[in-house]
Amino acid sequence: MPMLWKKRSKDEIRERVFRALDENRNYDSDYILGIPGSYLDTQQFYRDADFLKNAPYLQTLINNPNHIGCHTLTDDKGEDLFRGTQKLEIELIRMVSEEIMQAEPRSVDGYVAPGGTEANIQALWIYRNYYKKQFRAKNHEIGVVFSTDSHYSFYKGANLLSIEALPVKVDEDTRRINPEALRQRLHDASIQGIKYFIVIANMSTTMFGSVDDPNELAGVFKEKGLPYKMHADGAFGGFIYPFTTEKNHLDFSNPEITSITLDAHKMLMAPYGTGIFLIRKGWMPFAATEEAQYVQGLDYTLCGSRNGAQAISIWMILQTYGPEGWRANMAGLMEETDRLCAALDDMDMPYFRNPDMNIVTLKAGHFPEEVSRKYRLVADTYEGKAQWWKIVVMPHTKGAVIDAFLEEVRASKY
Ligand SMILES: *Cc1c(COP(=O)(O)O)cnc(C)c1O
Repeated sequence: MPMLWKKRSKDEIRERVFRALDENRNYDSDYILGIPGSYLDTQQFYRDADFLKNAPYLQTLINNPNHIGCHTLTDDKGEDLFRGTQKLEIELIRMVSEEIMQAEPRSVDGYVAPGGTEANIQALWIYRNYYKKQFRAKNHEIGVVFSTDSHYSFYKGANLLSIEALPVKVDEDTRRINPEALRQRLHDASIQGIKYFIVIANMSTTMFGSVDDPNELAGVFKEKGLPYKMHADGAFGGFIYPFTTEKNHLDFSNPEITSITLDAHKMLMAPYGTGIFLIRKGWMPFAATEEAQYVQGLDYTLCGSRNGAQAISIWMILQTYGPEGWRANMAGLMEETDRLCAALDDMDMPYFRNPDMNIVTLKAGHFPEEVSRKYRLVADTYEGKAQWWKIVVMPHTKGAVIDAFLEEVRASKY
């Protein structure tokens, strides 16, 4: 099977993006009477500045193609003014779902969302509507199960959708959902009248880099005979973990996983506005807004209009490195994180780290807080006393910065 994702030269990338832009229709090339927006204010934005010829992302931003809707649903056969760049988004969704998340060819729908928050809420929205439509479930009978280390977007989504948030305690050592605590939570939920479940498996939490075990979670629901659908939150780890772990159980090769969130504006270092939502085919229609008749192919997303440049930026970054290049980048981060952990071990400093992640979370109280503030470590809470301080090893923190931090911790003889 030919791979969509490969390392391409700057020229090839530029040529592909400009070809896509040429395929788009715009007010310069066509008579367009009915579509508002899209054409940026000409007093502010120079459409034909010379430097744009070598800046495919900026040129797309200026061209402002609207990627409203979910294009994988119509594949590349749909008709639209912006089909050229939308086809690159379809290619991007295929690259990420098939070549990073191990889906079968064309078995996944998806779109570039404003961020991980929307992608997570999109998943909750689809499963809530599924339970309502297929089981005549009431909102208060639907619960979202997630670990207490999970991102707050699940509270936000449960609140917006009027379904129940069911946070579950983590195991102190693994920082995964504790199966006993889960059983207890489900017992309480059933007394409360909750019958249908949406389960979140973290492909790295933000604070700890911890990764849930989807099969263990599914096992608990099966043992109790409870209906569940599982979503993997890879907003932080989606572009890291699949490249560093030996066997990823949180991708589409695992039938337990129905949908996945990734964020390109975290470790992939894309501009903000580059969340990615992926879901197996057949599920997106549960989010159809049939009243959105003026949008060709209806709308299936929370956000509506969005600039196609964001999808292009992700496509460009991936093509710049290629799979091998990206894998090597991630291996470099792991080595650097190993080095940090070895130094911490030397000092007998307690911390949590998943060996396949670049997050090291130090237990508070074993080094001076001024040092964590100076190096801008992130605390688990800013209300009250921090229990944990987190370091994310990133390309710019490699080497010198980490050494300087370690030096100060050592010198403090805390
Ligand atoms: C950052 C993050 C989110 C939310 O992403 P935004 O892009 O900020 O909306 C969700 N889940 C996890 C694990 C995250 O790290």
